[in-house]
Amino acid sequence: MKQKFHDRYSGKVAFVTGGGAGIGREICLRLASEGAAIAIVDYDEASALNVVNLILASEGRAIAIGADVSDFNAMSMAVCKTIEAFGQLDVAVNNAGIGGPFAPLAEQEIDTWSRVIAVNLTGVFNSMKAELPFLSENGGAVINIASITSLVGVAGISPYVAAKHGVLGLTRAAALEYGKDSVRVTAVCPTFIRTALTGSEFDTDTHWEAMDALHPIGHCAKPSDVAAVVAFLGSDDAQMITGCAYPVDGGITAA
Ligand code: NAD
Repeated sequence: MKQKFHDRYSGKVAFVTGGGAGIGREICLRLASEGAAIAIVDYDEASALNVVNLILASEGRAIAIGADVSDFNAMSMAVCKTIEAFGQLDVAVNNAGIGGPFAPLAEQEIDTWSRVIAVNLTGVFNSMKAELPFLSENGGAVINIASITSLVGVAGISPYVAAKHGVLGLTRAAALEYGKDSVRVTAVCPTFIRTALTGSEFDTDTHWEAMDALHPIGHCAKPSDVAAVVAFLGSDDAQMITGCAYPVDGGITAA
């Protein structure tokens, strides 16, 4: 596990979807390093267990839960298991997501559209629907992992762009509804990051060097860049922040 940063999450419980790999894995390790007990939800339960083992080896607290975010009942069970294990829920990070094939809209398959919306948009709705009743008991924070494609269009991935725009809408609406319960709801909008999700026929060093060059800061993001912003937004340092989207994009959407 990584170095210890602060103890902003001491005594807190975090619930992270898609925590078995990529950005979600880094979020779990970062929040655990700041003292949180973590429920790691992933439909690949073995990957979640690997992350749990890393956290336990550093004397943290974590459990793995196998669940698909596109299934509301499974997400409801996952939140209940978290409460059973740790007695409370303070921070929920809705990160699970999938990509899809590159094609112009008219060539996108209906099945691709349905699955991308089911996981990337309905999955966030299902997760928040399951989490918010518990979060509103004592206050807390929801952080939705959106994307720069929540803010701007990107050609070739219209189902993904539509889902991620929707995540921002859910974030804003829920922030308005749950502010009175001391629940803050924010979104993080990362730029391109080299993970399994972006792995494809384009996954070559040459491709990624070209992607790096698109960013004013000179490079794409890393999962740890997103984890650092999530750790801030879920902490009391961000107590005045709700209903907004944080780009983690090296300035690419400033153009
Ligand atoms: P990843 O593929 O590396 O990891 C995604 C994790 O989510 C995996 O562990 C996977 O098993 C899990 N998962 C997928 N579908 C699931 C489902 N239906 N139910 C439960 N778990 C599920 O992807 P990543 O790059 O780490 O992406 C994480 C999030 O960040 C996604 O929401 C993605 O859209 C977003 N994002 C990624 C990038 C990028 O360039 N990688 C950029 C912006 C936003």
